[in-house]
Amino acid sequence: MNKGKKLYEGKAKILYETNDKELIIQHFKDDATAFNNLKKAKVEGKGVLNNRISEYILSNLSQCGIKTHFVKRLNMREQLIRKAEIFPIEFIVRNIATGSLTKRLGITEGTVIEKPLLEYCFKKDELQDPLVSRDHIFSFNWATKEEIDEIDKVTLRINDLLMGIFRGVGIKLVDFKIEYGKAWNKETNEKEIVLADEISPDTCRLWDMKTEKKLDKDRFRKDLGNVIQGYQEVARRLNIMPEVSNISEVNFGKATSIKFKKK
Ligand code: C5P
Repeated sequence: MNKGKKLYEGKAKILYETNDKELIIQHFKDDATAFNNLKKAKVEGKGVLNNRISEYILSNLSQCGIKTHFVKRLNMREQLIRKAEIFPIEFIVRNIATGSLTKRLGITEGTVIEKPLLEYCFKKDELQDPLVSRDHIFSFNWATKEEIDEIDKVTLRINDLLMGIFRGVGIKLVDFKIEYGKAWNKETNEKEIVLADEISPDTCRLWDMKTEKKLDKDRFRKDLGNVIQGYQEVARRLNIMPEVSNISEVNFGKATSIKFKKK
């Protein structure tokens, strides 16, 4: 598989073309951004962890019958994916109220939402990805009713599967964002809707079941420190990447001189 020219560079990933027009390479960067690019930093090792965590999750979803863009991991930072025409919509699922939901509606932080809440946001950085209704999606032809009905069903199934994966390792799936696209299916000779982008601690809120410690990008957004350790903890519990256990963000205290006792 030859890596061709850069097709697109986003905040956390780069896409490259390959010699197969239906396949592209997705490269995970260490860049972290929040608040619509107002806050930026490099988090060493984040790209490696997200590549592996997303591979693990999308492969598991695929084994449960969810169609995804993921083909195979190529190396520590790159994976081969199917080229997909991405819907300009972010699909957000919430199980526990936090983040923009609590700010927008004044709902108490941590409120358990009985039935998973599905939200749609229009993917437009300049407008800060505004919340939209199903009717906005249909009025502006961002997707058809049939497509959204199918995506909603798959999204709720993904929520169930992800909750199971994380619950099994002592983590609460608070909320997450996913994206979908249309990719060519060689067997049916038709386009089909596939789960695209990534699922990682960059795109999910993950809290430790017992302590409610945040293990996701909120550690970066809220300056909680130990960002990479949160991501590593997720990878460790999922039993992937024991080999990166030496990536750390070390906060050295003030250096003090050592006093030796006189003999
Ligand atoms: O900020 P908000 O509360 O709306 O985020 C909901 C969920 O969607 C969080 O898990 C967050 O990480 C994710 N999200 C994302 N990319 C965005 C917006 C939200 O991954 N552009």
